[in-house]
Amino acid sequence: MAPAATLPQDHRPVVISGPSGVGKGTLFKRLFDSHPECFALSVSHTTRSPRAGEAHGVDYYYVSMDEFEALVKADGFVEHAQFGSNRYGTSKQTIADQTAKGRVVVLDIEMEGVKQIKKSGIEARFAFIKPPSFEELEKRLRGRGTESEASIQTRLDRAKEELEYADTPGVHDIIIVNDNLDKAYKELEDFVYKPLA
Ligand code: ADP
Ligand code: 5GP
Repeated sequence: MAPAATLPQDHRPVVISGPSGVGKGTLFKRLFDSHPECFALSVSHTTRSPRAGEAHGVDYYYVSMDEFEALVKADGFVEHAQFGSNRYGTSKQTIADQTAKGRVVVLDIEMEGVKQIKKSGIEARFAFIKPPSFEELEKRLRGRGTESEASIQTRLDRAKEELEYADTPGVHDIIIVNDNLDKAYKELEDFVYKPLA
């Protein structure tokens, strides 16, 4: 196990993707809690409403569709995508602010964003979190209790595309099956803390 307050040797941003409900947030929050002051979340902009317990500037910057579009026009995003009826994006300012903290930046983004980051030439590491089964994914998504039935269906449809894309060889540096949480966490931590060759 990597010592708590040690920065990873590899300072490149870590891009975490995977179907909604697979446990991405659970895993990266544990990474942040286990290693205080080593990581900084790339806080995205979104047009969706906050869930109970989420806070502006911590989980997301919650903006209107007009505000989001104005930022797109101003070329303010590194990448952005539509997910269901909402839009999500990583702002250039956020990346700059978080990088300036001298921590390793972690992005939690969906597939179209991953493709754009890859095209952008930004040096990053890519981790995909996979569910043990589609049934288990649905169970987690429902069990979280945050989504309407329509949102669950949209997320499950999208999950199929995410899983297909992740099968493309070479897209991700690591694929972690989040079956047992402790095991999956250890794999993520080992990946993030892998010493530079
Ligand atoms: P995501 O950020 O990928 O949408 P979350 O981190 O919100 O997913 O996790 C979705 C739900 O699944 C949460 O209720 C979480 O507690 C639960 N969960 C996460 N990992 C596991 C696991 N390994 N086993 C069982 N439940 C899990
Ligand atoms: P949620 O509504 O569950 O927070 O997020 C829905 C999906 O949007 C998740 O797959 C999450 O990874 C993705 N997402 C969150 N922020 C961004 C972002 O800035 N860009 C992109 N492309 N996807 C994002």
